[in-house]
Amino acid sequence: MKINYSYLPRQFKNTGSLWKKLKKFVSTGDFTLGKELKIFEKNFAKLIGVKYAIGVNSGTDALKLALKAIGVKPGDEVITAANTFVATVGAIEEIGAKIKFVDCDDTFCIDTSLIEKNISKKTKAIVPVHYTGNMPNMKKLKTISKKYKIPIIEDACQSILGEYDKKKSGTWGEASAFSFHPLKNINVWSDGGMVVTNSKKIFDKISLLRNHGLIDRDTVKILGYNSRLDTFQAVVGNWLLPKAKSIAEKRIKNAKYFDREFSKIHQVTIPPRLSNVKHVYHLYIIFVKNRDRLYKHCLKKGIEVKIHYPTPIYRQTPFLKRGLKKGMFPVTDEHTKKIISFPCDQHLLPKEKKYIVNIVRNFYRAK
Ligand SMILES: *Cc1c(COP(=O)(O)O)cnc(C)c1O
Repeated sequence: MKINYSYLPRQFKNTGSLWKKLKKFVSTGDFTLGKELKIFEKNFAKLIGVKYAIGVNSGTDALKLALKAIGVKPGDEVITAANTFVATVGAIEEIGAKIKFVDCDDTFCIDTSLIEKNISKKTKAIVPVHYTGNMPNMKKLKTISKKYKIPIIEDACQSILGEYDKKKSGTWGEASAFSFHPLKNINVWSDGGMVVTNSKKIFDKISLLRNHGLIDRDTVKILGYNSRLDTFQAVVGNWLLPKAKSIAEKRIKNAKYFDREFSKIHQVTIPPRLSNVKHVYHLYIIFVKNRDRLYKHCLKKGIEVKIHYPTPIYRQTPFLKRGLKKGMFPVTDEHTKKIISFPCDQHLLPKEKKYIVNIVRNFYRAK
C-alpha cells in the first residue's frame, strides 16, 4: 500500500463547484483586495471568534506584520521556541529583531517554566508556537506577559481551531498569525496567511502595512509592504472554510485511533495529551525506539513518514555562526533522535490507518 504524506490531490479532487466560483470571480477582475477577500476575512474572524482578520500573503508575513504592528524594532529581542519551523525565526529576524530561543517540552511547545529567565530589558514580544497543532501553557504565558508587560504574538500557523482551556488558538495574543500554505490544515492553492486581533489599532496598522502604507490610491501614510492575500486564493479559502471544523475533528479522531493502537506497543511512547488542550494534529508525532530503522522500514512499506525535524532550527548554519551549539536546548535535541511523524490527515482511510499500525507493530514484533 502507498500512503502519501501530502493529501492535496485528495482534498482538491472534487472541485467542480469551486471552479464555477473561480470562473465567475475571474470575469469580475476584482483581483486586488477584492470582495471575496473581505468575505474571507469576515468568515475567518467569525470562525476564530475575534473582531478582526487581515489577509496577508503568507503565515510568515502574518507574523512579521503582527510583530511590526506592536512596535518590535531592530535590536529588540523576541522569545520563541527552539524547535520551531524556520518561518517563525525568519519573520522575527526579517524586521531586525533578535531571536531568543527557549527549549520546548514533550508537548513540542515552548516550556513556559523557562521563559522568565530569558527575559531581558530588550525583550519586546513572546511568540509561542502552537507546534503540531498543540498549545503551550497559555495561562502561565498570559501571567508572564502581564507581569513583564511583554505582548504575546501567537504563531498559530499549525493550530487552526486548537484550544487551551476551551479558549481558541489565536485569541490569546495581542495578535496571532495563521497560514494557508498548501500543507496547513486549511489551505489554499498557493501561499496565504491571516493576522487576527481584537485590537482596532493593530487592525488599522496591519491593514496599512500589507498594502504599501496606502490610505487610498494616492496617499501614503507609512512605508509598508506588498503583502496582500490574493483575492483568487480567498475564493479557494471561502470554499474550504466551511469544512474547517470537520477537518479538525477528523484529524483528532485519527490521532485518537493511533494513540490507542500505538500505546499497545511498548517501544512507542505517546507524547503527553493534556485534557485542557484541544490539539488539532497538524502533525502527528510520536516517540519511538530504533527510530531510524523504523523510518526506513515505513518508507519501504509505502508509508511516507517524516521527521520534523532532523536538525532543529537553532542548530542550522545561521545560528551556529552566532555561537549556538548542540546541547543548549536538551529537550529539543533529545526529540530529534526519537520523533517520527505519520500521516494523520482528514482523508486517511480506515484501511490505511490499520495498515500503518500493522506495519509499526510488525516491525517491533519481528525484532
Ligand atoms: C507554516 C508555518 C509558518 C509560516 O507559514 P507560511 O505560510 O509558509 O509562510 C510559520 N510558523 C509555523 C510554525 C509554521 O508551521
